[in-house]
This record gives sequence, C-alpha cells and structure tokens, in this order.
Amino acid sequence: MKNTKLLLFIIIYLLIYSLIFYFSGNNKFIKSYKEFFYLLNLALPAFILSPLNKINNKSGKIIDICVLLSITFLFFPFKRINGEVFIMTFILFLTYYFYKFIFIQNFKKIESTEYELINDEEAIKIIENEKIASVKKENEEKEFEIKEITSLYTAVKDLSNTIKIEDTMEIIFEILKKIFKYNFKITTDDIYYILIIKKEFDFMITKTKGFDEAIIKENEKSIIQSILNNISPGKGIIYKTGIEKENTQTFFSFFKSVLFIPLYAEKKLFGVLFIAVNKENIFNEKQLEYFKILSNQFAISLENAYLYEEVEQMSITDSLTGLYVHRYFQDKLENELKRTSRYSKDLSLVIADIDFFKKVNDTYGHLAGDYILKTIALIMKNNTTPIDTVARYGGEEFVIIFPDIPKDKAHMQAVKIRKEIENYKFKFQNFVIKVTISMGVASYPADALTRRALIEKADKALYRAKQEGRNRVVKI
Ligand code: GH3
Ligand code: MG
Ligand code: MG
Repeated sequence: MKNTKLLLFIIIYLLIYSLIFYFSGNNKFIKSYKEFFYLLNLALPAFILSPLNKINNKSGKIIDICVLLSITFLFFPFKRINGEVFIMTFILFLTYYFYKFIFIQNFKKIESTEYELINDEEAIKIIENEKIASVKKENEEKEFEIKEITSLYTAVKDLSNTIKIEDTMEIIFEILKKIFKYNFKITTDDIYYILIIKKEFDFMITKTKGFDEAIIKENEKSIIQSILNNISPGKGIIYKTGIEKENTQTFFSFFKSVLFIPLYAEKKLFGVLFIAVNKENIFNEKQLEYFKILSNQFAISLENAYLYEEVEQMSITDSLTGLYVHRYFQDKLENELKRTSRYSKDLSLVIADIDFFKKVNDTYGHLAGDYILKTIALIMKNNTTPIDTVARYGGEEFVIIFPDIPKDKAHMQAVKIRKEIENYKFKFQNFVIKVTISMGVASYPADALTRRALIEKADKALYRAKQEGRNRVVKI
C-alpha cells in the first residue's frame, strides 16, 4: 500500500517534470543546462526509488521500467537519434544503476546491522533468561535450605522438650517422615527403623517400625549383632546405599539405603538407631551433613531420655528386689482405679507378708533374709503378667495389683504363688530354709471404692490369714 502510493507519486512527478521540460524546450536557461536537468530529472526519482527497488522485487522492476521510459521520453524533444543521445542515455542508465547500487549496498549494511542488533538482542534475552533462571534456582535452593534449617530448628526444639524414650522416638519418627516426604517423596510406609538400647548388660530391641514383630522377636540376637557390626567405635552416623550390590546377607540387605545412628552416653555406646529406606541415594553430600547434625540431636535426645528413664526407674524400683517401691505402688493403684471405674471393670489387690520372717533373719542372718526377699520377688514376677503391678510394700511385705481381674481369679492367682513359695527350696550357704507367705485379697468395686479403703480391706484379709494360722490366702 505504502509502496504503491510512493510509486504513483513518483510516476506523476516524472510526468509533470518531463512535461514542463518538454514545453519549455526553447527556454534559454534550460537549453544551456539541459544535461544538468537530465541528470536531475533522473537522479531524484532514482534517489527516492532505489531503496524501494530493494524492498520489493516486483515493484523494483516496475520502477526500473518507469525510469527507462522516463529517460526515453526525455529524449523526445531532440527529435533525432544520434550517438550523443545514445551516450547520454547510457550515462543516465549508469547513473541510475550507480545510485541503485550505492543504495542497495547501504541498505544491505543497514539490514545486516539491524540483523546483528536483533541477534544481539536475542542473545541478550537468552543470557538474561538464563540469568533469571539461575537466580530463580538459586533462590529456590536458598528457600529450600531455609526450610530445611527451619525444620531442623523446630525439630531440635521439639526434641529437647521431650524426656521419655517413647516420646522422643515418636518425634524422631515425625521428623524422619517430614524430611523423607519433603525431600525425597518417600512415604511413611517406606520408612523402617529399629531402636536398640543397652539394658543392664545386653542390647535389646526396644522399638521397631515396619518390621514383623514375630520375625524380630525370633531373630532379635542376630539383628542386634548385625546392627552392632556396622558401628565403628568413635565414628558417627553410618550411611550405606546400594547395599544389594554389596553381596552381604543381613536382615537389611533388601533395603536400598540404611543409616546407623550410634547413641553414646558419656562416650559409651548405649544404643543404635537403625533407619532403613527403600530408595537409593536418599542423600547428597550436603543433605547428609544436615542429617548428621540432626542425628546428633537424635542421639543427644535419646541419651537424655535414656538417662532420665534410668534415673526414673531407679527412683521407682527397689534396689534389693527390683520391684516397684511403695510410692509408685500408691500412684499406680490410684491411676488403675480411675481407669477401672471409667471402663466399669474389676480390680483386685493382694497384700502378702512373709511368715515369721524375723525368725529367718535371726536364725540364718540378714543376708539370708535378703536372699529370700529377692527370690520371692522373682517368684511373684514370674507368676504375673506385665500388666500386673508387683511392688515391695514394706520390709517383708509385697503387693500385687491385678487390673481387670475379679476377686476369685485373683485369689486363685495368689494361691498359686503361695504354693510355689511353700514348695520352693530356698538354699542359702548350704542351709535349706522353709519359707511360707500369707496373703489377703480385696477387690474393687465389690469390697471398696477408694484406694485407701481397698488397701485396708486387703490388709484386713491378710491379718485374718495370719490369725487363721498363716501360709494361706484369705479374701475379704
Ligand atoms: P509374721 O508372720 O507375723 O509376719 O512374723 P514376722 O516375723 O514376719 O513379723 P515382723 O513384722 O515382726 O518381722 C518383720 C521382719 O522383717 C523384721 C525385719 O528384720 C525383717 N525385714 C524387714 N525388711 C528387711 C530386709 O530388707 N532385709 C531383711 N533381711 N530383713 C528385713
Ligand atoms: Mg510384716
Ligand atoms: Mg511377716
């Protein structure tokens, strides 16, 4: 559209200019400078048309024809065709093409600079985009790091607020869940762990997740051993990945990544937290560093919990018999009664007192008496379940709480214990000592509704057992 307008304008210009030139053919001034006018006539449209010629090939050709026509038209006033006219025409054409050539060259230059500029612009854009992407990635990484540090911080805070192994393990597992899910898209079901803790002299499996209980129990010793085999003294957390390629046959060989977090208390190994995940390469170097810091916190918290539990255990257990102490028994009975009343169940209480124990002490000595106390405690433990509570009530008096067990069943249970004690051959320094025990049984809610009343009732039954000749169980 633009080109057509320009073309029209130029054709009209050429026509008008040529007509004026034609009709003023006798003008003296024009006549004496005709060559100049020829050139001017051609130069102007050629000058204007040259760039157009380049832009559009088709219109370029039309322009060429127009120029040719206008030049030929210009020679009409001469009314004769001779060598001079031919030379003039030739010069004019040369001039035209010279202009055209110059303009095309300039145009090409402009075009190539423009192209270069566009290229540069594109290159800058690409670089800019790359920069933006890398900054974005960096930001994302930083954000990720901040999130990791924040979650680490909250985890540490949560962990340092717990004092029980059970709670600590729960928080540790929550943290593991978060870390694995957030970082590696590993779900809870894919996380396995085993916590082994040293109790007295041996390591024991205290908590597991994901494993079959029965298999764990059956293979406890070998599992503990293979966990301990992977701990090197003085070394921290051990991370293994791609184990199946190692050709080792252990209980964890089918896991793709495992972690051994040794737990030290006062530089002594008291436990190991074993974590297994069914995914390879769960950590890169940096993440492993984070995890090491975190697992140090796991170890510290578990150590604290372990020490706390030890102290707590010490404060609630009697050092001679290993049974619960009197205070613990009172608290436990209170709680059990509350629970029993909530679920409308029975609870039975047995109070036991060794017969003529003073005489045993007097005859065989205090150490013999201690030995008997320890052995009786063991017999009682062996004849009760972990749900029952066996405690040392006083000097040579014991109590057993039977939750959810009615009086008759508790009575039967007590009789069994009494008989076992009666038949037991207590041997101390070559002396065989005969020991019997008397017991009283009372139940909630049949005999009493409060802790104090229940103890009183059981004590009354015990008194009756003593009265009736000892070595017997009396229910109130
Ligand atoms: P009864 O059949 O009436 O219960 O007679 P008993 O001799 O058992 O009664 P008593 O309550 O008079 O005696 C309790 C004895 O238990 C007194 C004490 O020397 C002994 N005794 C209490 N605690 C311990 C202990 O820790 N070790 C030892 N060896 N003896 C203890
Ligand atoms: Mg007594
Ligand atoms: Mg006694």
